[in-house]
Amino acid sequence: MLETTMPESQFGAHLVTRGEHAACSSRARIHSHSHSHSFKTPNPPSQGDAGSGALTLRPYQSLAVQNLRRALAGGVVREMLCSPTGSGKTEIGMAIVRGARSKHKRVIFLCNRVHLVEQTARRFKKAGIEHGVIQGENTTRVYESVLVGSIQTIARRGMPEVDLILIDEAHTVAGSKEYRAVIAAAKGIPVIGLSATPYARGLGKHYDELGGPLFQHMTVAATIPDLIEAGYLVDCDVYAPSEPDMTGIKQARNTYGDLDYTDADVGRAANKPELVGDIVTHWLRLARGTPTVCFAANIAHSKHIVERFHAAGVAAEHIDCYTDEEERRAILARVETGETMVISNVGILAEGWDFPACRTLILARPTRSLIRYIQMAGRVLRPHASKARALILDHSGSVTRLGFPTEEFPLELDDGRPRDAKGGQEEREKPLPKACPSCSYVKTVHKCPVCGFEPERRANVDVRAGDLVQITKKTKAPKMDKQEFYSQLLLVASNKGHKMGWVSHKYREYFGVWPRGMEDVMAPAVSPEVAGFLKHLQIRAAKGGKHARA
Ligand SMILES: [Zn+2]
Repeated sequence: MLETTMPESQFGAHLVTRGEHAACSSRARIHSHSHSHSFKTPNPPSQGDAGSGALTLRPYQSLAVQNLRRALAGGVVREMLCSPTGSGKTEIGMAIVRGARSKHKRVIFLCNRVHLVEQTARRFKKAGIEHGVIQGENTTRVYESVLVGSIQTIARRGMPEVDLILIDEAHTVAGSKEYRAVIAAAKGIPVIGLSATPYARGLGKHYDELGGPLFQHMTVAATIPDLIEAGYLVDCDVYAPSEPDMTGIKQARNTYGDLDYTDADVGRAANKPELVGDIVTHWLRLARGTPTVCFAANIAHSKHIVERFHAAGVAAEHIDCYTDEEERRAILARVETGETMVISNVGILAEGWDFPACRTLILARPTRSLIRYIQMAGRVLRPHASKARALILDHSGSVTRLGFPTEEFPLELDDGRPRDAKGGQEEREKPLPKACPSCSYVKTVHKCPVCGFEPERRANVDVRAGDLVQITKKTKAPKMDKQEFYSQLLLVASNKGHKMGWVSHKYREYFGVWPRGMEDVMAPAVSPEVAGFLKHLQIRAAKGGKHARA
């Protein structure tokens, strides 16, 4: 039987079951989906700082461990654990490692990058898990019953004798010959893949040498909306002020098997001076002073963006795979102290970089890959005392192409078979979000919640042949929300150098009363209503002669 297990007790009754007959459908389907959240954690404790000794698992984490055990006991050999960024995937992995060790079983934890091997070893050490490392010349203590290994080294030297294989970033397994060979050679040894984004093509594909699907079953620890609801992640606001024109840009499958824009083309489309300038302008307006990570189309683009930030007097730095280890550490340390406000890169920070205070994400790398997109967004969704929500400035068109990164994505392993006519686009339950034409805030509702702009709806009238159609206009727009109006005046005053008295007077001219009890929070943008009103005052003043106040 092939099925996906979702947590039931905290996050409502998720029951995801794959086709009862594997031959009919080897893709999991969500059959029932009702949320009944029964707990909230307003200030979730940070798990990473637990220090050594026993780690307390969050309820959904213990449940995931139980579900994994149940699946393996039920005869599943290759299991996928879906656990989003920020859900404590490594904590769940460590609990599995501890459980196996307590039963005197030997475990190996595999990673596909050297820095992830090092990072995992550090986490194990901090949690008090004795371990050896198998990674090129850093190989040490191979006699330990817990091993952290590099897949490249294992593929070359062969798999040591183990009872359980854990694979980190397991969405890469489908596209990796090394991983597939190691799994095939380890026939019968249970494999648990850990991934925040198990959306790669072919993760549930049938392989003759495996005698079945690559991963046979998926356990979902929690989804991103679950984690936001429970306070383990923060929600985000998205602005999409501009995007490169991607029409005619070539696409190819990336390392995850996702169809994505080719790197050369993406750089050409995104590295235009007006687009780069726009990135800096919008950051200054919407995100000034917030710790920010920027994902650029390529190295030149990333450096170009950093230059433009420097020109605007903002402390920004670039990092790439050629940055040497010492410098890389120094740069990231400056980001953490706030000395560097904007860190720009192409993709190196998408996996494994953890800086919860990072509030703003600049998406300047157009992508069609859900995996890449979710990984980039994951950088800013972690909760931190310094932020209530994250901010995404999308200059890549990703949000309007792929949806909000905080929504629920289809939870099924791809069987590698061609998708329906639309070429891989899943049918969506909800409409794709759109940017407000007035302030660029990305929303799914009609009226913009930020600036109040309401695109005119098409007149919904019955038209009979020969009849004249009367379209009634709204007689008068309702007055704006007072705080909203006040906040926008603050922005205008700041941009134009007006004093607070100016704000009060303009407010009074609009509402007929002086502002009272308003919060001094600047709006991110000026709506057409406010701009129109101020212009109207100017014209009136000009007509009224030189004594009138503008
Ligand atoms: Zn708006």
